Amino acid sequence: MYDVWQNVLAEIEQQISAANFSTWFQDTSLLSADNGYIIIGVKNSFYVKQLRARYLNLISTALKNNDINITNIDFEVQSASKTKSRSREITKPINSIRDHIKTIKPRTVTPEEHLNGLNNKYTLDNFIIGSNNELAVAAAKSIIESPGTRYNPFFLYGGPGLGKTHLVQAIGNELLKNNPNYKVFYTPISHFYSDFIDAIQSGKGKEFNRKFQKLDCLIIDDFQFIVNKEKSQEEFFNIFNDLYQLNKQIIVTSDRLPSQIKTVDERLASRLTWAGAFDLQLPKFEDKCAILRAKAELMGVEIEPEAIEYIAENVNTNIRDLEGEFSTILLMSEVRGLTPLELIENGSINVNRVSKLRPISSKQVVEKVAKYYDLTTKDLQSKSRVSNIKNARQIAMFILSKELNLSTNKIASEVGVKDHTTVMHGIKKIENDLKLNFTLRDQLEEIKEKIYG
Ligand code: ADP
Ligand code: MG
Repeated sequence: MYDVWQNVLAEIEQQISAANFSTWFQDTSLLSADNGYIIIGVKNSFYVKQLRARYLNLISTALKNNDINITNIDFEVQSASKTKSRSREITKPINSIRDHIKTIKPRTVTPEEHLNGLNNKYTLDNFIIGSNNELAVAAAKSIIESPGTRYNPFFLYGGPGLGKTHLVQAIGNELLKNNPNYKVFYTPISHFYSDFIDAIQSGKGKEFNRKFQKLDCLIIDDFQFIVNKEKSQEEFFNIFNDLYQLNKQIIVTSDRLPSQIKTVDERLASRLTWAGAFDLQLPKFEDKCAILRAKAELMGVEIEPEAIEYIAENVNTNIRDLEGEFSTILLMSEVRGLTPLELIENGSINVNRVSKLRPISSKQVVEKVAKYYDLTTKDLQSKSRVSNIKNARQIAMFILSKELNLSTNKIASEVGVKDHTTVMHGIKKIENDLKLNFTLRDQLEEIKEKIYG
């Protein structure tokens, strides 16, 4: 199925300039497409940022046109040796490209192969503790000291890019450091599922189960992608119960609470949070600065405090984006021979460039938001305090502020409210709600897609 990627590339190639194609897509590869969970391999994190910002729609359309089902698209940085470049020469026989793509092994790892799924770049030392994650880190430390006791299962949740994978991988790495014989296994739920299907199909269902039974610690990442396939969920439930009874540590991450995942069995959902649920929140300004300072120190690069503050102030999505922006600035600084602060001051850096690339008007925003909530623009701009209308109005305020950078006074006149403090309050309300309300997060993404799409 991996040769599908070349069809996808061929389609993308027709849509953009040759220069852009060779810059951004030449070295990409399809690493995995299990269960709609697409992982695209790229050369370095600079590409991740650019592909995400500029080409996500294009990639997803091309994937869909090639009958690939998409739940989520992620990028993974591959070291130079792993990502062989896909030559763009048209003369290259198509078969050799196919062969090359076929040789890429799907990323399925099982305990049998002695691969524990852990990446030692994720440690507790390089996980910066802030007000957004201190409780979760405290629990993590307690698990490292005495696994399988108080925080079992350990359920960690939070939006994308907030450090879930990093923290649970760090727990696994530390456990292994304390006891090299400890059997830890990390797997995204989508791989658990596909490995299980493979095992069943090759008549090795029992062995699959036995391998998991032997573990001391099982780490399941991105549990929200659990599928409603009875057998595999049942298998997971069994493994969960067996390990739990043996006081083995179970760690599960998800972008939302189990009760908010439609496909999950109720009993399993409640068991996952037996020992509580810990969340990772959006970092505050100080947390963001601390993370950036630590990254700079780890990388051994000099960056002015003002530049750090500029990035921290302007990236309000998550830590992954924060890092992406940071790498972009460092890369540009190297290429242009200017310091990060000089780049910011001369206007070369514009953290909000995504929205600048696709100009939209405030009128469009108000229209699309109203339409999304089945309202007319007039309803949205009315004085009505009916809750769904008020909510739509506040969403419009939020988008006008975050995407268009409009002043609160200007926003007030766009959405029909009298004074700008109402706008400030509305934006704050949505900001707060977004921290824990995953439905709202999904809605906001859908609305943005409608606006930009
Ligand atoms: P998630 O799994 O929640 O989507 P990740 O664990 O992949 O997020 O984190 C995204 C990026 O941000 C990773 O590169 C990770 O190392 C980094 N990161 C997240 N939280 C922290 C933190 N507290 N300190 C340092 N780096 C962090
Ligand atoms: Mg993750």
